[in-house]
Amino acid sequence: MIVLLLGSGGREHALAASLARSTLLTRLIAAPGNPGIAAHAELRPVAADDVAGVVALAKAEKVDLVVVGPEAPLVEGVVDALTLAGIKAFGPSAAAARLEGSKAFTKELCEAHGIPTAAFRRCRSAEEGHAAVEAFGAPVVVKADGLAAGKGVVVATSLQEAHQAVDHVFGGELGDAGAEAVIEEFMAGEEASLFALCDGTTALLFGDAQDHKRAFDGDEGPNTGGMGAYSPAPVLSHALVEKAMAEIVRPTVAAMKADGTPFVGFLYAGLMIGPDGPRLVEYNVRFGDPEAQVVLPRLKDDLLELMVAAVSGELAGRKPVFRRETALAVVMAAKGYPGPYEKGSEIRGIAAAEKRPNVTVFIAGAALDHGKLVAAGGRVLAVTAIGADASEAQMNAYSAVDLIDWPEGFCRRDIGWRAAAASEE
Ligand code: ATP
Repeated sequence: MIVLLLGSGGREHALAASLARSTLLTRLIAAPGNPGIAAHAELRPVAADDVAGVVALAKAEKVDLVVVGPEAPLVEGVVDALTLAGIKAFGPSAAAARLEGSKAFTKELCEAHGIPTAAFRRCRSAEEGHAAVEAFGAPVVVKADGLAAGKGVVVATSLQEAHQAVDHVFGGELGDAGAEAVIEEFMAGEEASLFALCDGTTALLFGDAQDHKRAFDGDEGPNTGGMGAYSPAPVLSHALVEKAMAEIVRPTVAAMKADGTPFVGFLYAGLMIGPDGPRLVEYNVRFGDPEAQVVLPRLKDDLLELMVAAVSGELAGRKPVFRRETALAVVMAAKGYPGPYEKGSEIRGIAAAEKRPNVTVFIAGAALDHGKLVAAGGRVLAVTAIGADASEAQMNAYSAVDLIDWPEGFCRRDIGWRAAAASEE
């Protein structure tokens, strides 16, 4: 099969590495890809969200399946455009991608189907937003409705902070994403992520993980795209996973089908595990980054074969199998990230890090400059290691991180601290 993979991050590098292991694969093309993905795929200079460009490329290369990594092309309808052109694509339609693209849509779907989540109010003006904040009281969560690259959510501990957040949402800075707001009850608990592989009717459990969003050790500092992750998530017992699949994921997939917008692709459920069990924080309509870098290396099955079954509506009765060991990823970012940072510094030592047993380095924001690998983004790479348990995976990951020679970069030194402590008990 000829497969076209869309995207250029560490998640897409992990997808490319898994797809490359498939016995069904004859050619892998990536658009636009990155230097890590280039080890597995031919790169084409087409932006992932250039819908017309992607369709033209898929036609010209006689692609059998397009795999969409990031959310932006999904929300823009790349799967619809490919389907119209007679090309199979793994990922949801624009209508189904509203599960990520509109927080209000998802909250209303949860309300209509009794799916456990935080109480909420949908607000169409700053006045409505301020009134909702007063009604909930602090702490309260203020969210812009649309995609805001993680910048549209404020967990406000005081009413003053919440009112400021409402003004920010409606202030115009967030563009269309801030046309509406969702004001939510604050949920206490521990966060974890659950992944499901969906064919429109059937949702199969596809691993779980926990990530670290804050920039610095001790889960302090500003929010980032994710500084590290591990899989499986110790907080998610078998019973909790079953409960989340039964009460949250499967009812969502059934509701989407009943509404005529069946969900195909990876559905990523962000969960809050509180005293009453799991509640939904948010959906993403694609794999997580860096979660893909810890879930996919544990997959024993042929990823491409499962994706083909998903787009053909043939997942019923299947059960993806994962290695029992823990995978843990440490993200290395350019100093200054998530604020302003420099580009162009050289990164050395990746080959040495990858010589360690069970270690893979996934490239994200990096480019080749005269044969040298240089930083070209905020989050630049992720070092994933596998170990018998979280503390062994953590040790393996950091011993590989220490072989990477990049003085202009930084990473957290405590990824997986909670899981490692649990595995040492
Ligand atoms: P991201 O893109 O960073 O995943 P997002 O912008 O799509 O995030 P959410 O995931 O909905 O937004 O919220 C971001 C974070 O805010 C969550 O991971 C969680 O830590 C916190 N959060 C969101 N809603 C709630 C809530 N109701 N109660 C407590 N914390 C919440």
